[in-house]
Amino acid sequence: MRTLEVYARHVANTYNKIPLILTKGKGMYVFDEKGRRYIDFVGGIAVCSLGHCPTSVVKVLRKQLGKLMHASNLYYTHEQANLARLLAQICPNGIEKFFFCNSGAEANEGALKLAIKHTKRSKIIVMEGSFHGRTALTVGATWKIEYRKPYEAIIPKVFEFVPFGDLQAVERAMNDQVAAVLTEPIQGEGGVRVPPDDFLPGLRKLCDERNVLLVLDEIQTGMCRTGKWFACEHWRVSPDVMTMAKALGSGFPIGALGARAEVMDSFMPGDHASTFGGNPLACVAAIETIKTMKKLKLPERVTKTGDYFMKRLLELAESYKQIVEVRGKGLMIGMEVVSKEIAQKIQLDMLKKGFLINVTAEKVLRFVPPLIVEKSHIDKLVDALDQLLGG
Ligand code: PLP
Repeated sequence: MRTLEVYARHVANTYNKIPLILTKGKGMYVFDEKGRRYIDFVGGIAVCSLGHCPTSVVKVLRKQLGKLMHASNLYYTHEQANLARLLAQICPNGIEKFFFCNSGAEANEGALKLAIKHTKRSKIIVMEGSFHGRTALTVGATWKIEYRKPYEAIIPKVFEFVPFGDLQAVERAMNDQVAAVLTEPIQGEGGVRVPPDDFLPGLRKLCDERNVLLVLDEIQTGMCRTGKWFACEHWRVSPDVMTMAKALGSGFPIGALGARAEVMDSFMPGDHASTFGGNPLACVAAIETIKTMKKLKLPERVTKTGDYFMKRLLELAESYKQIVEVRGKGLMIGMEVVSKEIAQKIQLDMLKKGFLINVTAEKVLRFVPPLIVEKSHIDKLVDALDQLLGG
């Protein structure tokens, strides 16, 4: 049986897939079963930030594999301690204690449980256009009604949605039941939406005044993606609780939830747990990812490459009326086109030309390439888009 037939028969049908079987990846490139090479502007959706199979991370993983693959959280490991210490150095001010898990949704799930435990309140203010995951709690905090509807019976009635970027709406939703405000600093799945500059500072102020926790989901925006280690730094805002995953392990699954020590200390033994959380393999992958990002001076590099990419896409937007808007920060860029059909056509035509690109929020081409992308790759992509749109 061929792979696609096996999928049809034996794999849950939960994803709209592109008809492409990937067999190998190196740096900016992935290869299909016929050996055809693609320039990857998806990067596993903002995961492979150091490129595919980065040499430094592969090396430490190989070494760790022969040393200790798993240790239960009943015991201590050097790897988990070293990762926590390193994260405390790169995280926004005050975020210094961590809980480790395996995915983004799990990190957000833990963040919400922590906020509820710490404040002894349960209402959570969340944003229209948000995406926070697919567990029952995190899908409840996710905007798209199609994702929530089938599970309404088991989704807690604790979430109130307000328009993203609207401080007055957040203020109106505040009451003495509110435990936390949860938001992405820049919305990813929602279509790469950057809030007005007063939004995060305003949220910080409102949360301080009301003694409410500010929880930032940096799962997609974190780890240098926007030209800072974490996107909230663009607005000089530090959250009380922050979540990360995606690029943290360069593709090795790991998630983490960080908090101010006083907040994290509300979790006591037994309050939360994960068998694989903080697994030594995941920890060495994350440690090496951070070290390599530091060595490459990735925030500065992303700012430069991101500015160039943005400039080239804005030039393209001037020439074609199919492009509605180009927006984003660093190497998290969205190009909104006039319709879903055009977005899908561009995605498939670009595949034929040897490029992986992603579409989100129906008609937004989302570019979240490995952060090691070079001007030459960007030029090739923009030239191919130019040909397509002009053709
Ligand atoms: N939060 C944000 C902002 C995300 O972009 C995602 C995934 O796309 C998640 C949470 C969920 O992460 P995961 O798929 O690892 O559960």
